[in-house]
Order: sequence, then C-alpha cells, then structure tokens
Amino acid sequence: MDDRGVRRVMRRPLVVGNWKMNGTRRSSIELAEMIAKNFSSSSVECAVCPPAIFLSDVASALVGSEVCLGAQAVSQFEQGAYTGEVSADMLADFSCAYVLVGHSERRACFGETSNQVAAKFVAAQSKGLTPILCVGETLAERRGDRALEVIAEQLGAVVDAAGLKALSSAVVAYEPVWAIGTGEVASPAQAQEILAFIRARLGENAKAVRLLYGGSVNAENAAQLFGQQDIDGALVGGASLQAEQFLTICRLAEA
Ligand code: PEP
Repeated sequence: MDDRGVRRVMRRPLVVGNWKMNGTRRSSIELAEMIAKNFSSSSVECAVCPPAIFLSDVASALVGSEVCLGAQAVSQFEQGAYTGEVSADMLADFSCAYVLVGHSERRACFGETSNQVAAKFVAAQSKGLTPILCVGETLAERRGDRALEVIAEQLGAVVDAAGLKALSSAVVAYEPVWAIGTGEVASPAQAQEILAFIRARLGENAKAVRLLYGGSVNAENAAQLFGQQDIDGALVGGASLQAEQFLTICRLAEA
C-alpha cells in the first residue's frame, strides 16, 4: 500500500455539511432524504448538521442510511437555567454523532471566546459526541502574517482544557474566515500549510486525527483540495444545501 493508501486507512475521509440557519422543516427533510438515498461509500464518511430545531426530523430521514447526524452548536453547560441553549446530552439523545465547536460565525456573531469553545469541546466529548473544532484566521490576521499565531491560540485553548490526547478522538477543521461564504477558497497550498502546522501541534497521536478544510468548498475545487497530504475531507456550508453538489463532493473525497 502506498503512502496515500496508508493515510486513507488511518483517517477515513469525512465530508460534513453545515446547513447553518437555512431552510424549512420540509426542505430540510427533503434534503436529508435525497442525501440519505444517494450516499453510499465504503471509504468516505458523510455527516449533515441541520438547524437544531430540525434535528429530530432529519434524524428520522437518515434512519437506515450511512449518513451521520451532527449539530451546529452545543452549550458548555450540562443543564439548568440557560435559556435557549441545547446541551450535549440533548444532542446525544437525538443520535448526533458530531457537533461543530468554535465555528467562526459563533465566535464573531455571538462572541464565543476560545475558552468557551474549549469548554464546549469538553462538554461534547463528555457525552460521547465527536467535536469538530473549527479554527481559522481573519483576512486582517492573514495580511498581518498572524495566521499561525491565531490558530495556535485557538487550538491551544482546547489543548489546555481537554489535554492533547482528547484531540486524537476529535476532528479539526481549518476554516479561514475570509473564505467562508465568500466564494474565495484558500489555495490547496495555503490550506495544506495550515493543516500541516495543526497536525504538527497535535503531537504523537496526530497521524490518526482527521483534519478538514472549510471555506467555499464546491464540486469544482474539492478534488484539488483533497489531493493535499493533510486534508482528510471538508466542512461544507453553501454547497451542502444542494444535494447533488454535496454528493459530488463526497464522491470526490473517495478518489
Ligand atoms: C462553513 O460554514 O463552515 C463554510 C465552510 O461555509 P461555506 O462553504 O459556505 O464557505
């Protein structure tokens, strides 16, 4: 088996759709049904993250399929007087396997700090969910040559709270803020550089950790990204709302 084959065995490619705050109950069920009916792969894993209020409907639509369910956010608190929040226990109760933590929209729009993100990561893992930790720099930070520093800080907060070993059973997604929803995808070389940096920081267990790229991934640019040594899949926003395009990206992750 060549190097690429070994890599694929150790790290099964993962493609995750983040539906964000889009769709209706009906359209979410239809999208989930389309993906569930048409996704089948012995080598790639696929997950969708619908809005929290549609988790139950989407969970039902995915029954009997190979598609996993994920959530877009989780509370760092276990239970109690936290109006509007959804706990890790509740997500696990709805058969979520994955949950996004630290998405840049949560950091920017809702003021989530790296320490809060770390607490959410710990809360998710404590209930058996696999956190998908999102990290990434803004355009100003990249232009100021601070991308690696920012990512080291975001990653470091989680390592401090959860321990390095905890990262080995998580997924990390590099999502440059300037590429999210903008149509401006990072070049394969830019994404590879950051993901190699992240893998190096994960230490001994890093070889088995799946690292994703996210930011304007679509059916046209996915293959080139997936060709990079340290890119084990994608976190897909806009393009995951179209079943055909999302399924194409999943197929490209197989190659
Ligand atoms: C995202 O929301 O995680 C994302 C990557 O969005 P998009 O693919 O639309 O850039």
